[in-house]
Amino acid sequence: MELFKGDRLKQFLGEIMSVKRDYYEILGLKRGSSAAEIKNAFRSLARKYHPDKNQGNSESEIKFKEVQEAYAILSDPNEKRKYDTYGHNRPGGSPFGSSGFEGVNISIEDLFGGGFESVFGSIFGSAGNRRAKRQRGSDLLVRHSISFEEVMYGCDASIKFDVLKTCKSCNGIGSPTQDGVRECPACDGRGRIQKIERVGPFTQQVVSDCSSCKGEGRIVMVPCSYCKGEGRANESKNVQFSVPPGIESGTRLRKSGSGESPKTENGDSGHLYIEIDIKEHEWFERDGADLLMAVPLSYTDLVLGTTIEIPHLDGELLKIKVPSGSNPGQTISLKGRGFPSQRSRNGRGSVMVLLKLDIPTKISRELKKKLLNLKEDLSYSDDELNNKIRDEAQSRRRG
Ligand SMILES: [Zn+2]
Ligand SMILES: [Zn+2]
Repeated sequence: MELFKGDRLKQFLGEIMSVKRDYYEILGLKRGSSAAEIKNAFRSLARKYHPDKNQGNSESEIKFKEVQEAYAILSDPNEKRKYDTYGHNRPGGSPFGSSGFEGVNISIEDLFGGGFESVFGSIFGSAGNRRAKRQRGSDLLVRHSISFEEVMYGCDASIKFDVLKTCKSCNGIGSPTQDGVRECPACDGRGRIQKIERVGPFTQQVVSDCSSCKGEGRIVMVPCSYCKGEGRANESKNVQFSVPPGIESGTRLRKSGSGESPKTENGDSGHLYIEIDIKEHEWFERDGADLLMAVPLSYTDLVLGTTIEIPHLDGELLKIKVPSGSNPGQTISLKGRGFPSQRSRNGRGSVMVLLKLDIPTKISRELKKKLLNLKEDLSYSDDELNNKIRDEAQSRRRG
């Protein structure tokens, strides 16, 4: 048996007793201290123990590192929440990975300005994922229908949907109690297992997901009753978004981070894609930025000409001037009254109006009498008819 005396004893006791002091205590604070208090305490202690001021002093070196570690955790809202709940025994092991906190490089100048914040801000982005693999939550796709009017000017909209989010009851840990989650013994919390395989004279290292914990590095012993130990639960979300003017049907708008929360504790939420569907309009068809419509007109309107006014998507009346002597099949183009467009010069497409001849299938006796009188005047003689047939053929061939 080995006996510890003097410095060896101190060291031994140090290892088992003082390795993990309370982070608040290290910074000389009480639980519930504000972010500003945490920052100020760190700044003054870090200046005090900075190696530039304490050349070769190993005790202040340890203190400097300790203060940094405490600040790294307490300045990160996510890590602070876990620390406040579980202390040093948080499920899943050290947030700094198996090697523990390695210290950060901070100059004394940084401690006077605000330069240290960005240094700490990146710790859990990089150190965190050295542990169990970092996963992004799944993306979600929802559909949203808008009207033609909303395409004209764009719109603000919101959608409500259910999405798997980090369980609020257990903060995503999967268990309500401190001891409810254990580091997976099969993989020591790494989530992966390394095996040395021998193939003939060669050996090779094979890394695979741990089957005991499904790669998560931890095992839930006492599941949270709200999320059944999953760490995530369905939450009803309301997301607001803007639809830009002139949008095409089928366009997917992306809301970063509004998708599912990741399965693992570190990782990013997935994205939410909102696919825009444009409802049918009563009379318009769409061709890019142009709007197409047909107007059925009577014989007399086409012969004599007319002006039609109909309400339009842009809120102004759409005035269609049909010139006298118009033929069915002709189109009238109203420039600048279509949807917004980057391509067209004035920023909007056109409304194209196709003229159609509307032939009534049923007419009153009275109207029939009048038409029979007109027929006398309008009918062609044999010669006229021959000429008309010839003219028609000619214009058709000219295209
Ligand atoms: Zn495992
Ligand atoms: Zn839960």
